[in-house]
Amino acid sequence: MPMLYPGALCRIADTTAVAVTIDDGPSKTSENLLDALEAESIKGTFFLSGRAAISHPETARMILQRDHAIATHGFMHEDMARKKRDEVDEDLGKSLATIESVTGFHAKHYRPPYGRLHPAHRDLPALHGCRLVLWSAMPGDFDPRVDVDELRRRVEHVRGGDIIVLHDHPQSWERTAVCISALGSMLRRNGLRTVTL
Ligand SMILES: [Zn+2]
Repeated sequence: MPMLYPGALCRIADTTAVAVTIDDGPSKTSENLLDALEAESIKGTFFLSGRAAISHPETARMILQRDHAIATHGFMHEDMARKKRDEVDEDLGKSLATIESVTGFHAKHYRPPYGRLHPAHRDLPALHGCRLVLWSAMPGDFDPRVDVDELRRRVEHVRGGDIIVLHDHPQSWERTAVCISALGSMLRRNGLRTVTL
């Protein structure tokens, strides 16, 4: 489990739905994930890195055009628990401004890299108009030590109300697509839908 903060969103109240969140994009392989999501009729929330949005602006816009939601994962992908308050403040503010200038959308949800934020800084997201979002399910699509069958098993354990976190990365997108496919089957079998944040 991630570090817990009062007021942070780790699950959603609606137990008939699952929130699918995808960190670290946009990337040169985001479109593969968008196709995988569409094949399963899943709508997700992409927590974009500000720096990556500068490198892949059209992909950032495509995520919105294809009816997914976007949120911020900060500007630099660094451990914010080790940063001074003004550094965290600047990174978050810069990410919001960047995402807005690239997509026209002002993000309202923030997930710091690795889900880490110093407890003394946990008021910062709200000062930027953002809700702090963590997760309740992390299958490990980014971790090559987790084999594909185990990934599928972990996705099978996702339940209504969960916030699942996946990743948008060129090195692991095929594993993420496996998770998305398994998630689609699980959702249909359990009569669950997906919601964006
Ligand atoms: Zn990340």
